[in-house]
Amino acid sequence: MRNVVLLGPPGAGKGTIAVRVAKEAGLLHLSTGDVLRDEVARGTELGQRARTFMERGELVPDAVVLAMVQERVKGQQGVLLDGFPRTLAQAEGLAEFLPVHVVVNLAVAKDEVVRRLGSRRVCRACGAVYNVVTQRPRTEGLCDRCGGELRQRPDDTPEVVARRYEVYEKDSRPLVEHYARQGLLKAVDAARSPDQVAADVAKILRS
Ligand SMILES: [Zn+2]
Repeated sequence: MRNVVLLGPPGAGKGTIAVRVAKEAGLLHLSTGDVLRDEVARGTELGQRARTFMERGELVPDAVVLAMVQERVKGQQGVLLDGFPRTLAQAEGLAEFLPVHVVVNLAVAKDEVVRRLGSRRVCRACGAVYNVVTQRPRTEGLCDRCGGELRQRPDDTPEVVARRYEVYEKDSRPLVEHYARQGLLKAVDAARSPDQVAADVAKILRS
């Protein structure tokens, strides 16, 4: 059994890389954002508890998220955690029921993240995601799929992206140091193409 944690700032491509490497490595891909949305949508007991916090605009407490993760990893032969843990407290809670064998840190500089997310456009109508540098729509400003208008999400403006990056760095630093001290941390340069990054991560998971 092999459990992997994937770390990285917003815009590092965690979700994309996780999907690409998990299958090949025979790991269950667990995105805590997806797990949370699923539990809320299904109206499970944990989902209902989470919803009361979300409706108040508050963070879902660690204990609730940890309980959801614990339920999903039960009986699994290796998982790839994407977006979790985010803090040292969450890592300590996780260690109580799941041993972590390797932590891959997708490293990318703030300027690169600002550039990447700043070039993202989202369809107002169907939510399809484009990138004006790497994945342009056939007609500028319009969605290939439905013809809807493309826009930049308020979250993707340079000031907001820079701020999100700084918050991530500050919150995750103790976590990164914690895993480094345990000798589990492997850094991967994520400022390259998804193919190159995925190949490096896959190599780490094979070794
Ligand atoms: Zn669309």
